[in-house]
Amino acid sequence: MLNRRDFVKSTGLALLTFSLPSCGGATSRGTFLNLLPEEKEIQIGKSYVPYAIEEFDGLYPDGEAKDYVRGVGFSLAKKAERKLPYEFYLVNSSQVNAFALPGGPVMITRGLFLRLNSESELANVLAHELGHINARHHARFLEKQFGLSLLLNIGALLVGNKPYGEALIQFGQIGASLLSLKFSRDQEREADRYGLIYAYRAGYDPMGMIKVFELFKSMEKGGRPPEWLSTHPLPETRIQEARKIIESLKPEGGFISDTQDFQRIKSKLLNTKDSFEEFERGKKAFANKDQRQALLHFQRAIEMYPQNYMARAYTAYILANRGDLAQAEDQSSLALQTMPHVFLTNYIHGYVKFLRRDYRGSLNYLQRANQLIPDHASTHYYLGRDYEALGQVSKAIEHYKAALELSQGKAPWAEDARERLRRM
Ligand SMILES: [Zn+2]
Repeated sequence: MLNRRDFVKSTGLALLTFSLPSCGGATSRGTFLNLLPEEKEIQIGKSYVPYAIEEFDGLYPDGEAKDYVRGVGFSLAKKAERKLPYEFYLVNSSQVNAFALPGGPVMITRGLFLRLNSESELANVLAHELGHINARHHARFLEKQFGLSLLLNIGALLVGNKPYGEALIQFGQIGASLLSLKFSRDQEREADRYGLIYAYRAGYDPMGMIKVFELFKSMEKGGRPPEWLSTHPLPETRIQEARKIIESLKPEGGFISDTQDFQRIKSKLLNTKDSFEEFERGKKAFANKDQRQALLHFQRAIEMYPQNYMARAYTAYILANRGDLAQAEDQSSLALQTMPHVFLTNYIHGYVKFLRRDYRGSLNYLQRANQLIPDHASTHYYLGRDYEALGQVSKAIEHYKAALELSQGKAPWAEDARERLRRM
């Protein structure tokens, strides 16, 4: 379940990557009646935060870094037109990327943060993402792509019980399309305008955005285009237009360009860089089914940075599959202590507890995992096993069915799940 390829292939997260619905196709309906209500937009955006966290290798585990990014983000969000429950996340991925979800969440990767040179650059990146949210680019995409009735339906399911069956699959498809959403040039122009104004209003030098654009261009020329460019097109004309917007703001100086806080947090990130590189080597070895080598990398990653909970979670998984259950549980509980509110740590801890035949304990963590990501097939399978072991047959049946439907019968446990369903 852990390396992205295997994980994605054998589980519900497959929907994130492999079943992207085709774009377009929607005719323009009325304008007003098709607006997704703000409350639903917020709900939908929020429900995909756990997916985005997993997709980008988890949350950066340092509390000070987290608070810093949130602080900069909130100072910008206060200047935005739409009053929404904004939230800002620093994720572990070494990709050079930042993105937003509808209705409030904004994420920036460790890889992009490390490339930035000042707080005003960071602020302008976050402000640009706030621009997309404020211009309702995600919401408009969803309205066009999925139609209002499906969105309202999914929204309704999210409030009450977690969706099952067909709705779970649609839920996954919406998530996949949100995480790979590409913006048009017009939308970029619009988000630039909003973003530059928010940064300016919050006291940041809007030229920070131009510096970021130049950085991305130089990376592109160097043959390593940042991932950000694949969803946010950056033609030369866009840079010229951003310069014009900045001129029209008539900035007179006195802006925040950089801060000691930024440099302190960046040096923290630099200090943990080697650990995350080891982690990525481990993930590659794991994907190549070399678990012995993977374990060595993960252990080195943990030695370098004990808070690297991702490396611990993978370690726990490998140890558990080797039958080393006591050590696996030590690692999975440490991972959970570091990061208690993400899918991966709850799933792994629940899985290890299941193998240790602590079905009640397992159920508790798997339920939490399932609340965070409701369409992960293996979670449903092990929930089924826990319920079966505890004698709750109808619940077990429900989860086996969901597991089979989500995995399309292809998971390693699929035959076992079918057999158990037949017996019940
Ligand atoms: Zn953009």
